[in-house]
Amino acid sequence: MNFLGNDFIISSSIWLIVVFTFIFTFRKKIFSFYYKESDFDKFVTLLKEYLDETYPKINFNFHFVETLEDEPNPDAKKYALIDNIINQYITLELNSTHNKSIPTNKLWGSYTFNSKPNKTKLPEDWLQRKALIFERDEKTCQRCSKKTTIQESDIFMLTPLEKGGQYYFENLLLVCIDCMKIENHKRDTSLNLKYLDIKDELYSLVK
Ligand SMILES: [Zn+2]
Repeated sequence: MNFLGNDFIISSSIWLIVVFTFIFTFRKKIFSFYYKESDFDKFVTLLKEYLDETYPKINFNFHFVETLEDEPNPDAKKYALIDNIINQYITLELNSTHNKSIPTNKLWGSYTFNSKPNKTKLPEDWLQRKALIFERDEKTCQRCSKKTTIQESDIFMLTPLEKGGQYYFENLLLVCIDCMKIENHKRDTSLNLKYLDIKDELYSLVK
């Protein structure tokens, strides 16, 4: 009885050693789901940090992550999440209630005359207007809150020319290139929306 007991202990120990050695050797394969998951979690953190810093006033929704649990390919998950974020970015509503005037002492003699649309031409003082709007709107896209430069920004007309909009400061808003494309696309869906800087920027976060 004692002998059988010893035999049982020895054989069980051997089995345990074999099983643990097997698990230890192939741990990355067996727990691959866990390893890839942690890589994806790191990506989500990186993406959140990037978005918070670049678009500080947008609250992107990350609930979409929960729907990706069954997707085994970590890169597919990353690209699906990015596409979801870009869709949220495209569907943002432009807040047109914060359009502000420019103090009258900064205006010039021909300001009112040049504010009236002249066929399809931009007013001759357009660059002067753009520079003042750039400062008024604190070098920040008024749609997505991204910091921008004068070269990489555009001026959006809240009421378009076709609907009687004019070049008065109250009708003009500083926007980034992406937001200009998106808002123009909303007005005319035949305009192309394929090339957005945000796409390149977010795709470059996937390594
Ligand atoms: Zn923008």
